Amino acid sequence: MIVILKPNPNPDQLESLKNWLLGKGIQIHTSLGTSHMILGLVGDTSTLDIDLISALDIVEDVKRVQEPYKNANRKFHPEDTVIRVGDTQIGGGTLTIMAGPCSVESEEQIVAVAKAVKASGATMLRGGAFKPRTSPYSFQGMGAEGLRLLKLAREETGLPIVSEIMDTSQISLFDDVDVIQVGARNMQNFNLLKLLGAQEKPVMIKRGLSSTYEEWLMSAEYVMANGNEQVVLCERGIRTFETYTRNTLDLSAVPVLRHLTHLPVIIDPSHATGKYALVAPLAMGAVATGCDGLLIEVHNDPAHALSDGPQSLNPEAFDRLNKRLLALHAFLSEGEGAK
Ligand code: PEP
Ligand code: MN
Repeated sequence: MIVILKPNPNPDQLESLKNWLLGKGIQIHTSLGTSHMILGLVGDTSTLDIDLISALDIVEDVKRVQEPYKNANRKFHPEDTVIRVGDTQIGGGTLTIMAGPCSVESEEQIVAVAKAVKASGATMLRGGAFKPRTSPYSFQGMGAEGLRLLKLAREETGLPIVSEIMDTSQISLFDDVDVIQVGARNMQNFNLLKLLGAQEKPVMIKRGLSSTYEEWLMSAEYVMANGNEQVVLCERGIRTFETYTRNTLDLSAVPVLRHLTHLPVIIDPSHATGKYALVAPLAMGAVATGCDGLLIEVHNDPAHALSDGPQSLNPEAFDRLNKRLLALHAFLSEGEGAK
């Protein structure tokens, strides 16, 4: 971090700033220009509040030269994070396929979809019990009963389950859920993120509708700084000027995040496009970028789904797609081995 001081800084205030920084274990390299003094701060500056320093009377400007996230930063953790979930894993060269309906609707529905996606090679069952809907008049999910049915489907198929938490008050209901999803709208629910930092289970954070990579990684940092290193990132499309698709899938997220972080990256082409016909091509594209997995909505009767029917694949379409995804992933992995 670089702190540019105003001309002729008050010596007492300068002394007190330096002592405060030294007390935080930061080394200070001072350079004196013709009009400005510049402090070069060396050490772990990720915990320094840039706004606090900028607001000081003697400070003209502050610039970060390092990312504000440390736990999620690849610079401090060069190896890819691999997260174990039941008998499977996320990251480490595997292609995780999270599939299932947007909402759990009934025992028959979730068990039928779970069996179908398992038979097609999905590695996790994803279904929503608590649904963040734009309209209060839309189906809000089955709540605790939905989680009970998901667990039943897990017993029937052996697939680990992934479901979204919407609020801190729901945490005890998620005791037996294998991966807790934080939805796009909750990406910056900092109380929720802190609470999830105290859990000993994987947390998948979806990218906020208009969030930058840095904001997204800072959300991961919230969970990690509170003690939970098992964080997965899920790109689900961002808000742009385009309205034809529900969102715009940012596939740059895969190589960009590979560079910035060691955390696994999942792509969700279903919420990104909102249209079932666009799911397969973007899922294939996502695998080609080297993502660690996909989240794909599958419903046994999309036309009558209580939420997100237009973007849901039926089990037959999912089966066809998953075969192609696994073949592409296997082909690309062979190439990796030959390098
Ligand atoms: C979901 O995954 O069902 C969901 C609501 O997605 P998002 O938070 O990405 O909108
Ligand atoms: Mn959905």
